[in-house]
Amino acid sequence: MSFFVDRLRGMQDLFPPESLLFNEVEKIMKDSASFYGFLPIRTPILEFTELFDRSVGDSSDIVQKEMYTFKDKSDRSVTMRPEFTAGVLRAVVNNYSDCAVFPLKFMYCGPCYRYEKPQVGRFREFYQFGLEIFGGDSFLADLEAISVAYDILTKLKLKNFKLEINCIGCSKCKEKYLNAIRDFLSIKYDLLCETCKSRLNLNPLRILDCKNESCKSLVLDAPETIDFICDSCRSDFENLKESLDISKIPFAVNTRIVRGLDYYTKLVFEFVVDVGGSLLTVCGGGRYDNLSSSLGGPLMSATGLAIGMERIVKLINDQGIDLCIENGRKIFVCYLDDESRSFAVDLVFKMRKFGVKADYDIVGRGLKSQLRYADKMGYKFVSVLGRDEVRSGSVNVKDMSTGVVEKFDINDIGDLIRNIKTR
Ligand code: ATP
Ligand code: MG
Repeated sequence: MSFFVDRLRGMQDLFPPESLLFNEVEKIMKDSASFYGFLPIRTPILEFTELFDRSVGDSSDIVQKEMYTFKDKSDRSVTMRPEFTAGVLRAVVNNYSDCAVFPLKFMYCGPCYRYEKPQVGRFREFYQFGLEIFGGDSFLADLEAISVAYDILTKLKLKNFKLEINCIGCSKCKEKYLNAIRDFLSIKYDLLCETCKSRLNLNPLRILDCKNESCKSLVLDAPETIDFICDSCRSDFENLKESLDISKIPFAVNTRIVRGLDYYTKLVFEFVVDVGGSLLTVCGGGRYDNLSSSLGGPLMSATGLAIGMERIVKLINDQGIDLCIENGRKIFVCYLDDESRSFAVDLVFKMRKFGVKADYDIVGRGLKSQLRYADKMGYKFVSVLGRDEVRSGSVNVKDMSTGVVEKFDINDIGDLIRNIKTR
């Protein structure tokens, strides 16, 4: 049925069972991260546009083409977050004093907005689950973030996922590399797409991340960041590789990964899933030690990652993974008349008080309709209360999957609750 206002393109309405799956995935992610000591942080969806211009970067696809930016009523340019990292870092710098205890480990989950062309796995409103670690200087902080993501994908039983890592060097190594790639691409200038032509001087690293097919083929034999990194970056990278081996987290070095955001230095990585021969990125991350100081904040090393929730949920469906999600509805208590209705309401409220997900008819339907409703809604147990039950003080409970009926004493509600709670 079409309503007078439609949904915006690239945005989704989620209903059960999809919304239940989404919640379950989010829960698995949060639980996994909390085992590693990550605590939740919540930051606004709306930030000053300047924050993203200066962090994600003027030359990135996000800032150039994808941001939901508008003027608020005070004529200030504001942007709906296209990602979390910049806002989380801003929040940390704004709120923490010199006596903050480092490292800080935060997790978050929420919507992001990018005005992209909607297609499979690409939305204009999408959810990210992510982690950020501040003040963790060594490769061990990177290991922490990667390990949580690996745990999550494993717990979700995702098949065919791979971790790919690369080192793009610290700001000094990056400078040397940028000169080399600029020289390499200058010769091919005419063949670059219009966006990449403007990137050549601004930030040639972006060209390696361009989705345009002709640009992709031009950079196939481009110099690799890994050949330009200093001894310190190399030793960090080697240490990380060794610790991944020790942690039994399989990985491959992919020297082509540079990531789409400007703020990364040293480590960048992605978790990708093979979908019919092409690789889908489900998680991206890396180190961004210079971001705080470049925004006028203190020197603060940082590393983090973000997982795209919709892509994960789609893969779970496509790969036929069963996370055994139940809608949680336990027992539906039907009633026949006014007297048994009061009895039913009392019973349902008592059960809810003791942690049983119980329900009853709230529209005054006949017994047949109540039973049909309970069946459609997937209640595990159904009970019918009538004059006989009220008089005898007993209640019959039917297990809808087996058809077995059990009788319980209404005055010993503990027995009833114990019995259905565990099933
Ligand atoms: P891509 O190369 O696919 O555009 P990206 O580099 O722009 O990804 P990030 O900014 O690193 O993505 O965001 C982290 C994760 O968020 C991605 O790996 C992906 O799973 C998810 N993601 C990014 N953009 C979208 C989108 N428009 N719709 C749904 N998920 C997205
Ligand atoms: Mg993108």
